[in-house]
Amino acid sequence: MALDPNSGLRFECQPGCRKCCEVSGYVYLTENDVSEAARFLNMEQSVFEAQYIFRTRNMRRVRKPSGKSKQCPFLNESGCGIHPVKPVQCRLFPFWPELVEDRKAWKKTGTWCPGIGQGPLIQIGTAMELANEMREKYPDA
Ligand code: SF4
Ligand code: SF4
Repeated sequence: MALDPNSGLRFECQPGCRKCCEVSGYVYLTENDVSEAARFLNMEQSVFEAQYIFRTRNMRRVRKPSGKSKQCPFLNESGCGIHPVKPVQCRLFPFWPELVEDRKAWKKTGTWCPGIGQGPLIQIGTAMELANEMREKYPDA
C-alpha cells in the first residue's frame, strides 16, 4: 500500500542499536563510498578493495566475512568502524525507496528496527527526498 502523501513517518535511531548492521543482506557502495572508506582507513584503494570489496561492472558491495555470521566486516564492538564515511545506504536507512513508498514494508521493517515509530514525525516530502538520494546514488540498483 502506498503512503499517504500528506502523512509523515516517525523515526529516531536508537543509541547503541546496530540491528541494521546485523540483519542478513548486502552493503552496496558508491564509487565515492569506496574511496572515502579506503582513505578513512589509511589504505591504498587497491588494497582496501582486495580485502573488502566485491565489484562487478555496475556495482560494488562489501564482502561478507567468511565463515562468520557477521554481515559486515566494519561492524565492531563499538559500532561501525567507518561511521564518519559509512556507505550511503547505511547513512540513509531506513529511508530507502522500497520502505518509504510502501507502508507495509515500512511497518515490517519496524518489527526489527526499534527506531521506526519513535522520535519526531518526519514529513513524507523529506522522507521522499532521502529516498530519492538513494535512487540517485545507486542508479543501477
Ligand atoms: S536498526 Fe534502526 S534503530 Fe537500530 S541502528 Fe539501525 S536504524 Fe538505528
Ligand atoms: S558499513 Fe557500518 S553502518 Fe554499514 S553495515 Fe557495515 S558496520 Fe553497519
